[in-house]
Amino acid sequence: MPLSALWYPTDKCFIDGAWQTPASGATLPLENPSTGQIIGQIARGNADDIDAAVSAAQAARLGEWGRMPAFERGRMLAHMGRIVLAHVDALAEIEAADVGKPLKQARADAVALARYLEYYGGAADKVMGETIPYLDGYTVYTLREPHGVTAHIVPWNYPMQIIGRSVGAALAMGNACVLKPAEEACLTALAFAAIADEAGVPKGVINVVPGLGHEAGAALSSHARINHISFTGSVPVGTLIQKAAADNVVPVTLELGGKSPQLVFDDADLEAALPFLVNAGIQNAGQTCSASSRLIVHRRIHDQLLERLAARYRALRVGPAMADLDIGPLISGTQKGIVAGFLAAGGDLEIAARGEIAADTPASGHYIAPTLLAGVPHDHLLARDEIFGPVQVVIPFESEDEAIAIANSTDFGLVASVWTRDGGRQMRAAKAIRAGQVFLNNYGAGGGVELPFGGIGKSGHGREKGFEALYGFSTLKTVAAFHG
Ligand code: NAD
Repeated sequence: MPLSALWYPTDKCFIDGAWQTPASGATLPLENPSTGQIIGQIARGNADDIDAAVSAAQAARLGEWGRMPAFERGRMLAHMGRIVLAHVDALAEIEAADVGKPLKQARADAVALARYLEYYGGAADKVMGETIPYLDGYTVYTLREPHGVTAHIVPWNYPMQIIGRSVGAALAMGNACVLKPAEEACLTALAFAAIADEAGVPKGVINVVPGLGHEAGAALSSHARINHISFTGSVPVGTLIQKAAADNVVPVTLELGGKSPQLVFDDADLEAALPFLVNAGIQNAGQTCSASSRLIVHRRIHDQLLERLAARYRALRVGPAMADLDIGPLISGTQKGIVAGFLAAGGDLEIAARGEIAADTPASGHYIAPTLLAGVPHDHLLARDEIFGPVQVVIPFESEDEAIAIANSTDFGLVASVWTRDGGRQMRAAKAIRAGQVFLNNYGAGGGVELPFGGIGKSGHGREKGFEALYGFSTLKTVAAFHG
């Protein structure tokens, strides 16, 4: 399909309000994961492009953007949100081609991007400081101020949602941003820049430099003139980012991986739980940080629930993004190889059910049939490590204490859910589970613009989304005035 090069050149960087050829003149191939075909080229930005982007952002902070009242920044974000909504179909088609998302999921991501811009647009003038009682003769108050230049390094799995939550919140607080999208999926990041331009966002406020992680990404995270880093991605790269941030003593938010459990007790409403149990695992082909990859099920209902889960799995259809089935391809051949490697390592496990790859699916695309594994020991590799593919494991338990212990037995702590009608158990479990978000009788994989989100343990630290994010994207100044 033709990529919407209609609005913007796909092989350029967006720096200082202009589409610029990368300093090296080099490009990277752009693959459609549904077909495995190369459908274009993207810019291979490097340290020079990053440096130019940081300089543009610094200049923007000193100019019109730095002086703009908060309500006007908010109005600008809300305007961007309206432009996104007017282009939902086009954005969805771009994302479907670039990431392989089934169209309805790509549409949902575009609508979520608009929602983030609306939310943070409305919040921009509602972040307040406070007055502090102090010594006689003093008036003391606090000011919430932007960090300055914020760096945003994002992955390929939910580009629009992650840009919305991170850049949206940073702009609301008056920061100027340098965005390094993933090399596998940067088209909607460029579209975001085009939308900002159309909305009248001053030049230099939003800069987008596509490129490789170890080139453009490393140059950005180690740049001496950035003031905050927001990173979403894998644990190994997150570790590098935190080290780079330490060298320059800048704050960093790490949104990393997960192995999120759903605990299903024997008094749960299984009819209500079933769609969540499966969808939260296979959404976006399981390439979701908050994917629920572990189903921890009470033994008394284990066999009947497994049967119903398996029936749902057998009905799942996998195919090209434009066919808009339940599941699309994985992002790349590399990712497919990683998931296949995990499945091979789980060769000893019982395959309870598999979905089906649709008959006319291109063999050169990166497809994996969703796979449900049963009777998995909680300490098995497949029950501990993030697979990042459409694979769920079912782990039986006998008691509440055991269920909680299994839930807490990985290095991650991102999201969890508990299915039970017992109110006391809901409260106990919500407190005992180590995770940034706990859902009771529902599961929100990635959803909820308003809900603070982030991890503990290897899932990272800091919070994005919701009002909480605005504190992370700002710094607090205390003013103590002596007036006698
Ligand atoms: P990744 O860590 O490989 O890449 C993420 C970003 O970092 C990309 O833009 C990449 O170019 C960049 N990068 C790579 N090497 C770098 C380096 N040396 N220096 C600076 N930047 C570098 O992750 P991925 O494979 O793109 O994404 C999948 C991972 O992201 C999974 O682990 C998933 O759980 C996680 N994720 C987390 C969240 C969350 O909110 N917690 C959301 C989505 C994805």
